[in-house]
Amino acid sequence: MEIKRGIPVSPGVAIGPALVLDTEWFRIPQRFIEGDHLADELQRLKHALGVAAEEARGHQQAVNSKLGRQYGAIFEAHALMIEDPSLSREIEGLVKDQGYAAEYAVSRVMRRYAKALESIDRGNFATRAADLFDIEKSILRHLLGHRREQIQQLKEAVIVLAHDLTPSETAALDQRKVHAFATEAGGRASHTAIMAGALEIPAVVGLGKFVTDVSGGDQVIVDGNRGVLILNPDEETIERYERTRTSFRTFESQLGKLRDLPAETRDGTRVPLLGNIEFPHEARHCLERGANGVGLYRTEFLYLGKQGDPTETEHFDAYMTVVQAMGNRPVVIRTLDLGADKFATAAEPVIHERNPFLGLRSVRLCLRNLTLFKTQMRAILRASAFGDVRIMFPMVSTLLELRHCKMILAEVKEDLEDEGIAFNRKLPVGTMIEVPSAAVMAEQLAREVQFFSIGTNDLIQYTLAADRTNENVASLYSPGDPAVLRLIDTVIKAAQKHGVDVNVCGEMSGEPIYTMLLLGMGLRQLSVTPHHIPEIKQIIRSVTLEEAVQVAQEALRLEAARDVNNYLREQTRRILPEAVMT
Ligand code: PEP
Ligand code: MG
Repeated sequence: MEIKRGIPVSPGVAIGPALVLDTEWFRIPQRFIEGDHLADELQRLKHALGVAAEEARGHQQAVNSKLGRQYGAIFEAHALMIEDPSLSREIEGLVKDQGYAAEYAVSRVMRRYAKALESIDRGNFATRAADLFDIEKSILRHLLGHRREQIQQLKEAVIVLAHDLTPSETAALDQRKVHAFATEAGGRASHTAIMAGALEIPAVVGLGKFVTDVSGGDQVIVDGNRGVLILNPDEETIERYERTRTSFRTFESQLGKLRDLPAETRDGTRVPLLGNIEFPHEARHCLERGANGVGLYRTEFLYLGKQGDPTETEHFDAYMTVVQAMGNRPVVIRTLDLGADKFATAAEPVIHERNPFLGLRSVRLCLRNLTLFKTQMRAILRASAFGDVRIMFPMVSTLLELRHCKMILAEVKEDLEDEGIAFNRKLPVGTMIEVPSAAVMAEQLAREVQFFSIGTNDLIQYTLAADRTNENVASLYSPGDPAVLRLIDTVIKAAQKHGVDVNVCGEMSGEPIYTMLLLGMGLRQLSVTPHHIPEIKQIIRSVTLEEAVQVAQEALRLEAARDVNNYLREQTRRILPEAVMT
């Protein structure tokens, strides 16, 4: 049994067989063979090894003539390794003695070698491990051939383990079959993590190296509450986690009873809870959890699985699904936040930037591609004729940028007016505050909009210069950092002064330990991933405003993220112990 600790990004506990994905999304089943198939299996293995070695020699020839012998030598080394009798002896041994299917035996042996190399912390041994993966892949390709299983066509429940998953790969996971996932890379507010929340599957990211320690079919546990992955758990651990899973479900179903009760403090202050969504069908998740509206609709997910840019009709249809489902509740549609780790447009499919998070992202990209921007604005305005639609601009970093966005919106309104198309002329306009410059200039921005939404996912990364997707700087990336709290405080005060609505829509607002703090700092509205709504509501219903103000005052006095988080954890444990798992 091996226990790995990472970053919990989607709650829940899952126990089941691992499906290990490599970069080619191979699936290596833990399969055993019958004794009378042994000879055939050994023959199959021999054939695959032979073809893989031949292939490596072919690559060697091609590279020799294209780039020179020193590069071709890499593939010669691959061929020599595949032909090494001690390698085939070891693999054959597992097939004969353990009854493993050839591909499972190959994977076990190659992963053992790779792990041994990775553990030698010197020179380029670790990068040599990558060569071993290449060799493994090549042999597996010949063994599995057309039988290579597709992740989209799973027949049984699995837990997906991978080095990393992109947001699109995550979105493509079939929730009915993938009961959890865990990755070596990733941060707490990466879009992959946000997708896990949208799919409502337990997930842990940023675990560091573990893929070489596990084979497909091995039993694993993912604890999305505490951020733990357990490989090959013993009986006692499995029993303990089965009990945890049951009590977590009981806790969730108790919270379900809060659905129709208001999010209101013990002394009667209402704090509407809105939902964050990525797909139109999630409007249903919001309603099931008793959301008071949609506070953030991330429209860039319209790009998922699409080659070209969405048409005006595609935008409009998606928005109408949400607007109609939400009735007269507010629906905040955020304009496209493309770029960085989220999808490319058809016009600018792959922009190679050295620092994509600091590059042509979001409104910066839309302002360079006005056709794209106006198409979306037309659809949002048209949908505004049917409900309480509001428009919000992401990643605004200067006042002039916001004015530019509003100017384009005014042009689109004029066009619709000329065409006699209905829309809400008073469509509320808001901006996200997720760049430190916007937080600092909140007073000036407040004069231009009806509402603010504080995007802590980005605000934290830009304030602390810590990439939200990078597990290596995850310890710096904390919502409780005093610098972040001071910026949030500035924004709330500016909003209050100018009578502008303000909420937080970053992942921070769905983390129970920050609820009292945010209330105490003056927020009267939060926008969270739908499945967090009941828990956050429970906390709101358990405190008085006065208690929350005291907690916020104390937290703002502290000078280190660690102290703030420990203090808040303690205060939250006092109110709702089940909400604080670690
Ligand atoms: C944020 O940055 O907090 C936010 C809500 O936007 P996104 O996560 O889509 O970047
Ligand atoms: Mg953001």
